[in-house]
Amino acid sequence: RISAPEAPESFDTQALQQLDSAHFLHPFTDHAALRERGARVIVRGDGIYLWDSEGKKIIDGMAGLWCVNAGYGRASIADAVHAQMLQLPFYNSFFNTTNVPAVKLAALLAGLAPQNGPNAFQHVFFTGSGSEANDTIVRMVRRYWQLAGQPERQVIISRRNAYHGSTLAGASLGGMPGMHAQGGLPIPGIDHIGQPNYAEGGRGMSEAQFGLLAAGWLEAKILELGPENVAAFIGEPVQGAGGVIIPPSTYWPEVQRICDKYDILLVSDEVICGFGRLGTWFGCELMGFTPDLIAFAKGVTSGYVPLGGVLVGGRVAHQLIEKGGDFNHGFTYSGHPSACAAALENIRILQAERLVERVALETGPHLKARFASLVAHPLVGHAETCGLAAGLNLVRRKGATVHDCEPFDSAHAVGMLCRKHMFDNGVIMRAVGDRMIVAPPLSITTTQIDEMVERIQYCLDLTLEEVVGKGWM
Ligand code: PMP
Repeated sequence: RISAPEAPESFDTQALQQLDSAHFLHPFTDHAALRERGARVIVRGDGIYLWDSEGKKIIDGMAGLWCVNAGYGRASIADAVHAQMLQLPFYNSFFNTTNVPAVKLAALLAGLAPQNGPNAFQHVFFTGSGSEANDTIVRMVRRYWQLAGQPERQVIISRRNAYHGSTLAGASLGGMPGMHAQGGLPIPGIDHIGQPNYAEGGRGMSEAQFGLLAAGWLEAKILELGPENVAAFIGEPVQGAGGVIIPPSTYWPEVQRICDKYDILLVSDEVICGFGRLGTWFGCELMGFTPDLIAFAKGVTSGYVPLGGVLVGGRVAHQLIEKGGDFNHGFTYSGHPSACAAALENIRILQAERLVERVALETGPHLKARFASLVAHPLVGHAETCGLAAGLNLVRRKGATVHDCEPFDSAHAVGMLCRKHMFDNGVIMRAVGDRMIVAPPLSITTTQIDEMVERIQYCLDLTLEEVVGKGWM
């Protein structure tokens, strides 16, 4: 069971909750419901742990929001940012100016980026977030084709249940119906195909066969639109917000082959997968493809300060630089010196502690084994992991294969019940429908993975008790 909460610190939780609901509009939140409940107030973090204003210690199974890769409490990141803020907190990189941390970070990222032959990632465009990175990609891809003499190549193909951000272009690239429904999205020139979700669409075939089938939807869409109109394909190596959807190993190489065949730019959205989440610096390295452009954010600073960007391969960079003249795009905070200082120190930590290698060789395999053992639980239909990203499905009845499990009535929102038990018992796990997902800090140890999985197991028991009590199972 859970150890007793530590002594509450001096926060007036109720007063904070009242001020919160009076003034703070949260992302993706039903505010009337939140007002009834009151927001949880998080006041401190250390390693993989958080503390709320009531003194409760919580395992952060989501690394903040897939971003605190180095873990909380890294004084050296705070020191680096402090020193940079005293030296030069901000300066812009418009008007033929630059700054030292941005230059150093751009060069460091060019060295860390996946090997890409003649299409090497030698250039970086900095943004303030992942959404801005994907907006930049839309503009950069269209500019590229303009410069390449094929301006009719406008359409960017993405996938249903993808997440690429919340700005107009990001939400349009994403494949979330709930987002599209609010405000007339997607914007013109963005089209979607099905996702490579074996549990959803792979009945009656092997994973390998399904991967080829799902990649084939891209070719069908290209032919439907006319290859001469298609600019790019974008995807997350492993879909994160969509529920940790891990594609079959045949999927990405086939997507690459199709993009090459029709001369279409390939974009990897590495906002979650980048900086070690899957046990490689970038997810495309694990999945076996070499994109033209990479979106990154989150793990680049471990979320300590907002920063995002686009790694630009040689094919696009050459056109932009040698032929392009002005690229009329950029942000006040492109190359923010304090954010870049945070990134430099964060990456130093990831390297010095070999955190990415540890995900590949130690913590990732350990999480995989522990999640495999959860499948014995009566509520768990199947469980998958990739590096330090994992998901398990809560089901009404188990089946011999993932396709034979019987789901709960979605109106019962069993995932949300389970998430509440997790919160109440000191572990943060996210619910995507009835799929429960984790993505802890990369600094997590195998002992801490055991602690996290034991809590998950306990909360699955509580959920089972509740679901049986309600007669849903
Ligand atoms: N792309 C992916 C794959 C993401 O997961 C996210 C955020 N969860 C974004 C883009 C958007 O990033 P941000 O919230 O920093 O704008």
